[in-house]
Amino acid sequence: MTDILDLFPQYAEELKLLRKTAREFAQRNFSPELARELDKKEEFPWDLYRKAGELGLLAPSIPTEYNGGGFSTYLADIVVTEELIRAEPTLGTAIMSGPFSSHLLYFFGTEEQKKKYLPPVYKGETTFFGAYTEPEHGTDITQLNTIAERKGDKFIIRGMKTFITNAPTAKYGVLLAQTEPEKRHRGQTLFIIHTDWPGVTIRKLTGKMGQRSIPVGEIYLDNVEVPIDYVVGGEKGINQGFYWTLAYFNVSRIGPAAMAIGLMLSAFDKAFEYAKKRVQFGQQIINFQLIQEKLGRMAMLIEAARSLVYRAAYYVDDYIKFKIDPRAMAAITSAAKVFATDVANQVIDDAIQIHGGYGYFEEFDVERYWRDHRVTRIYEGTNEINLLTIVDALRRDAWKP
Ligand SMILES: Cc1cc2nc3c(=O)[nH]c(=O)nc-3n(C[C@H](O)[C@H](O)[C@H](O)COP(=O)(O)OP(=O)(O)OC[C@H]3O[C@@H](n4cnc5c(N)ncnc54)[C@H](O)[C@@H]3O)c2cc1C
Repeated sequence: MTDILDLFPQYAEELKLLRKTAREFAQRNFSPELARELDKKEEFPWDLYRKAGELGLLAPSIPTEYNGGGFSTYLADIVVTEELIRAEPTLGTAIMSGPFSSHLLYFFGTEEQKKKYLPPVYKGETTFFGAYTEPEHGTDITQLNTIAERKGDKFIIRGMKTFITNAPTAKYGVLLAQTEPEKRHRGQTLFIIHTDWPGVTIRKLTGKMGQRSIPVGEIYLDNVEVPIDYVVGGEKGINQGFYWTLAYFNVSRIGPAAMAIGLMLSAFDKAFEYAKKRVQFGQQIINFQLIQEKLGRMAMLIEAARSLVYRAAYYVDDYIKFKIDPRAMAAITSAAKVFATDVANQVIDDAIQIHGGYGYFEEFDVERYWRDHRVTRIYEGTNEINLLTIVDALRRDAWKP
């Protein structure tokens, strides 16, 4: 009874089966050689992404009518994310980032939009993007420079988005624009944008520290004509963009938190095995208490972070049924995201330290894990802004630890 999934008896059996499916998929298809190669070439693992789609691993908690896995709990997404990344961090993070932001369309899109756009993503035929960040508006997206001007039954959009995950590979995604600039965040709208539309240009950004097989790019919009049907949620979505984006981030920031768990587990597995094999002073280094202190601390931090992340994911099921106050949910997922990604910094660094000089070389992989991990403290809200989100909930009496 020490499996974390046993804490959720109503789902434990089906989630264990799902985890087994993810594990076997990874064992059949993942290899560190492939990960090193894609990391070097900055290439997306298309073949694996498609195969994961065929197995329903890309969106376990989305209903089957949209080609999701049909699980009734968001915990399913966490289980797969953790397991694939534990098996191979570079490949796992790339695959699980492919559908990034498609949940936003699932939460707020019209039925027609969901039926049209979600199945190709979850079958692994295309990736998806969510474009919020601009060069001058990163943490602060309360006023955007990308303008969507209404002309009758369409919008004309001009502006630019940067650091957009999947922009170079996705056929489409969602984009946040300012529909009424004078209203600031109250005048923002989400649009579905196709990357092959006239006036849309994508530029791939290369040279990232880590997660190099996840494509990231800039999106330029030069007077792009967008019919009103492409407003997320239809007519009622106009000027709801900022609120819907925040409501979506209340859930999606569990993504990097779960990534951090997978990354830590992977680093721990490697370090533990290495410590049992490496001999210095005539004995395995695991016999040294200073190495034991590191391994003990790593295991403890992973367990603590994992408890927090699974708990946050469990609350999502009630949040999406409007049973949890959004500010409370924001605080809970922010705490999970900050804690898991911050301790991952230490845990993966300790894994490198246990490897000594070998840990600094690509052949031993842990240096790549650290590079893949580092951005989880930056995106989906920097850890600084997530801590402020916790305090906001406290000050408004929406949540207490
Ligand atoms: C690999 C990668 C992938 C990404 N993918 C996407 C994507 O798919 N879609 C998308 O829209 N964006 C994406 N981003 C952008 C990411 O969300 C932003 O980088 C992030 O929100 C921070 O914005 P910024 O980089 O402009 O930093 P800034 O906002 O300029 O922040 C700089 C520093 O100031 C701190 N800071 C800012 N405001 C405050 C404050 N009020 N109080 C305290 N500290 C503060 C920040 O925490 C940070 O440390 C991605 C970024 C990267 C690196």
